[in-house]
Amino acid sequence: MLIETVTTELPDTKTIRLRWPEGHDPAFLTGQFITVYWPDAPHYKRAYSLSSCALDRGAYEVTVKRDGKMGTRIVDWAKAGDKLFVLPPTGRFLPVFEPDKHLVCIAGGSGVTPFRAFAREAARRKLETRITVLYSVRTTNDIIFKQEFHELALANPNFNFYVTCTRLSAEDPWEGRRGRIDAAWIKEHIHDLPNTVFYACGPNALVEATEELVLHGLQVPKTQMKTEKWG
Ligand SMILES: Cc1cc2nc3c(=O)[nH]c(=O)nc-3n(C[C@H](O)[C@H](O)[C@H](O)COP(=O)(O)OP(=O)(O)OC[C@H]3O[C@@H](n4cnc5c(N)ncnc54)[C@H](O)[C@@H]3O)c2cc1C
Repeated sequence: MLIETVTTELPDTKTIRLRWPEGHDPAFLTGQFITVYWPDAPHYKRAYSLSSCALDRGAYEVTVKRDGKMGTRIVDWAKAGDKLFVLPPTGRFLPVFEPDKHLVCIAGGSGVTPFRAFAREAARRKLETRITVLYSVRTTNDIIFKQEFHELALANPNFNFYVTCTRLSAEDPWEGRRGRIDAAWIKEHIHDLPNTVFYACGPNALVEATEELVLHGLQVPKTQMKTEKWG
């Protein structure tokens, strides 16, 4: 597929838009990931969660952080007009869009990418499903999709977006939460535990720490948690 646009989200994070070829109209689900590789290195394949949702037609969007070989090549070198091979979307990190459910989506850093897709689809379909994103970043300069999440929260009364900053200086004027995600913070956002589904996505260490908080700290049954481990 051709890279249509490259958008800088943060100095080390970019969204690439991969235009579907003429006549291509794939069936896929919000929350799935694609696998990509460059024409000159067909054996080096890496997965990226879709940051666009299933209602966004005509192109896939993935949001990549400069990290490792593939992450660096995409962020530093990918440009509009480049060709990238794409394997079809797959994966089971799917939002449970039922009216009574509350999806508590926990992310750190780039792990927030699929939650933009969750929030986009819910807003577009005016769903009653509640979605709460709890997002941990180092500083206020590290919030990916800040503007879009604020707009989605304004447009959809069932969507909320909360940020905690872990490495702000004491003098920083940020009035929001500080410190790491902990069980107490997650608990503040639970109103009906049996109908709450927890999601965690990102590097293994972060997802495993979140599993520990949710499954052991809050005693949530495993069936109520979905994770996507990036490695
Ligand atoms: C389902 C799924 C979805 C994903 N979605 C996304 C997404 O939406 N966005 C995203 O940015 N990533 C995502 N990833 C991660 C992505 O697939 C890549 O793994 C990532 O971009 C790193 O590229 P790489 O694997 O080529 O890194 P590698 O070059 O294999 O490096 C892997 C890690 O090891 C470190 N490393 C490499 N060499 C050394 C060394 N010599 N010494 C010390 N450390 C080293 C790198 O810094 C990096 O952190 C996803 C992964 C999966 C499985």
